[in-house]
Amino acid sequence: MGYPYSHDLEVGTQLSRHFGDEKARTLEGWKELGGYATLPKALEMDPDAITEVVKNSGLRGRGGAGFPTGVKWSFMPKEPNGAHYLCCNADESEPGAFKDREILRWVPHLLIEGCLIAARAIRAEHVYIYVRGEFFPFSAILRDAVVEAYEGGYVGENILGSGWSCDVTVHLGAGAYIAGEETGLMSSLMGGRAEPWIKPPFPAQSGAFGRPTTVNNVETLAAVPMIVEEGADWYRQWGTEKSPGTKLWCCSGHLERPGTYELPLGVNLRDVIYEVCGGAPNGKKIKAVIPGGSSTPMLTDAELDCSGCYEGMAEAGSALGTASPIVMNEDTNIVSAMRRIAQFYAHESCGQCVQCREGTSWTAKILHRIETGEGTAEDLDTLYHLCEQMTGRTICPLADSVVFPLLSSLDKFKDEYEALIKR
Ligand code: SF4
Repeated sequence: MGYPYSHDLEVGTQLSRHFGDEKARTLEGWKELGGYATLPKALEMDPDAITEVVKNSGLRGRGGAGFPTGVKWSFMPKEPNGAHYLCCNADESEPGAFKDREILRWVPHLLIEGCLIAARAIRAEHVYIYVRGEFFPFSAILRDAVVEAYEGGYVGENILGSGWSCDVTVHLGAGAYIAGEETGLMSSLMGGRAEPWIKPPFPAQSGAFGRPTTVNNVETLAAVPMIVEEGADWYRQWGTEKSPGTKLWCCSGHLERPGTYELPLGVNLRDVIYEVCGGAPNGKKIKAVIPGGSSTPMLTDAELDCSGCYEGMAEAGSALGTASPIVMNEDTNIVSAMRRIAQFYAHESCGQCVQCREGTSWTAKILHRIETGEGTAEDLDTLYHLCEQMTGRTICPLADSVVFPLLSSLDKFKDEYEALIKR
């Protein structure tokens, strides 16, 4: 398999149990493993009953925001009023996140089954799986699986003789980070630039092609078949009251055993870093961890004793995000790391908002100046001022994605900035 996918810290191997098994990729192999067993059950259920099970399970969106999935589905109109769409967000672009691609790569039929059950629940007639532009091999695997699913009668006209029809389209993006934001994704899907739009209107009112649409992340949808099959209480045996279930954790950076691990939500973050991933190699100390993908506030080693769930990470002053801890050892130059993050977001800004277009770029330039020993004390004041101007004033949260790690690095590692300025 190359690297481990699950860990015996807890039983949590529900999504990843067939990762690494070539058999799971084909329709025949997937059915032998018990795949597509839940779809017939879902086809006999009332759409609102499916939504109710998912609502009761407490499943929260795994794309970063953590919004309750069943509640999101319940926003869709219930009366027959024309086309509804489901968009599966497979545009995994957040630095540090590499979990959704594992689902596309190893268990594409699990995702397809999850999409169909979700589509049934929200009364959608078409599923668009929007795949990140760089994911050529993974999108090819997914496309093959969709073709097989059509041939097997699991997708398309009159699915399994139920009288219900639903198409699935795999759409490859052009490689823009901002296409991972739900309205940016729909703009791109409709043939435009991946430019987010101001909400309202919310997607459930007017989304893709002006029709009611739900956008869900890959990992969220892949969890749906087992929840509908086994029930809400079964799912709630893992995790916490407010963050039930298991989660794929992507652990990267200075770690002995980096990789994708399925763990229960609520796991202690220090255990993830030190027990599951073996801590930093060569006996080095850990200086900082960005726990939820690059857009979340940094934690120091002393702050790692926190619950790895949505509410626990918020209490610790950060965010669970995509559960993608990026670990930096004691040798890491925090200013360089922060400059690299700012450069990434400056490059990926769609340019609609001045605060984001100019702010991310200025931030990256100032950080570069400090990093190369040409910064001044006023530069620190300017960084704080920029953070203030970039927070909560833009169409989408991309500008905040620079502010959160930057402010936490200034708060916790200001001495490193000042040392470079003095030098
Ligand atoms: Fe575009 Fe940035 Fe504005 Fe988002 S915040 S819409 S990425 S300019």
